[in-house]
Amino acid sequence: MAQFTQPTSRDEFHVAIICALPSEADAVTLLFDQFWDEDGDPFGRSSGDNNSYITGRLGKHNVVLAVLPGMGTNNAASATANLRSSYGSLRLVFLVGICGGVPKIADDDVFLGDVVVSKAIVQYDFGRQYPGHFEVKSTLEDSLGRANRDIRGLLAVFETERMRDILQTKAAIYLKQLQSADAKAAAKKRRRSKYQYPGITENKLYLPGYVHRHLKKCDICSRFDSTCDAAAMTSCAELGCEENMLVQRDMFEDDGDFSSNIFIGRIGSGNTVMKSGEIRDWIARKHNLIAFEMEGAGAWDEVPCLVVKGVCDYADSHKNKLWQNFAAATAASVMKAILDRYIVTDAAQRPVAAPLSGGGQGRGNSTRSISGNTFGDNVRIVQGDMTWNGN
Ligand SMILES: [Zn+2]
Ligand SMILES: [Zn+2]
Repeated sequence: MAQFTQPTSRDEFHVAIICALPSEADAVTLLFDQFWDEDGDPFGRSSGDNNSYITGRLGKHNVVLAVLPGMGTNNAASATANLRSSYGSLRLVFLVGICGGVPKIADDDVFLGDVVVSKAIVQYDFGRQYPGHFEVKSTLEDSLGRANRDIRGLLAVFETERMRDILQTKAAIYLKQLQSADAKAAAKKRRRSKYQYPGITENKLYLPGYVHRHLKKCDICSRFDSTCDAAAMTSCAELGCEENMLVQRDMFEDDGDFSSNIFIGRIGSGNTVMKSGEIRDWIARKHNLIAFEMEGAGAWDEVPCLVVKGVCDYADSHKNKLWQNFAAATAASVMKAILDRYIVTDAAQRPVAAPLSGGGQGRGNSTRSISGNTFGDNVRIVQGDMTWNGN
């Protein structure tokens, strides 16, 4: 078993994770293999940085985790700027949490708990509103450059079906680890465990035009296409949203053992929550999007990042909080599985951890087959024999 030593400075961190919500960060920390800050923060931060950080190790990487002070692109931008000022040697930044999913991607149905990974981010509310139409100024892919080579390299690997299968299998193992760590913590604190799978019968997708609202006796809800605040705050179950308005989909057999499908594509990022099935479908079609979220564009303004988010709803008006924690857990699990494939090579200032030995945590012979893909000076992607790290 490899020995890992605690880093001595912030410069030894090459990987950061940003979460918008504490519950998302909790899911990520359940997958930490080691913490570096159990006796207080040994690394500090640069002047003017008011983020607070959790530091530790995920697999063979030292990682710093930051929780945003709130949702939205502006919070994400300023917190990411601070992160970058304190941690100057970062090479890979993940934005991990939950998002609203587009229900169908190409021919595939998307289920709650599936995970999306960004190939590019489109700030769909950034542009000009003309009479009758809104022109998105540009995709971040165009305006801020594409994802950096580290990220492109990682994604290129996972775009093959075989690698995605391997990623999915690994993520499912991490999800189990996360859930059992949470169950243990919950038992100690006499609370319920938070990250359990809600079950296929709770995976409800309503027809895009079917609006979540009071079915009777409400002045606002009885108007065309409007929902009162009280209805917006009430769950579908309490409101009585009708089962015959559900989209009929081929459901998979539910043995309680959910494994997230992983979709890589363009993610829409905006400052408002997408809560309309019809507008969702229209914008998704127009910009070729696979999901909607609210922080990616802000974080990307500061540093190219990889958005990894679990689908907790369908970006429509319906309300169901059942999936939020589980989706945060599936996203965290996929992130850790992706991170396992990320290699910081010898050209780094100093290896982030002691060399890995064969077997156990080691990569063993799999590093032998380094492909022609060398990304940047310091990063390369293994495409040979796929032996996963860890267990
Ligand atoms: Zn109402
Ligand atoms: Zn509803």
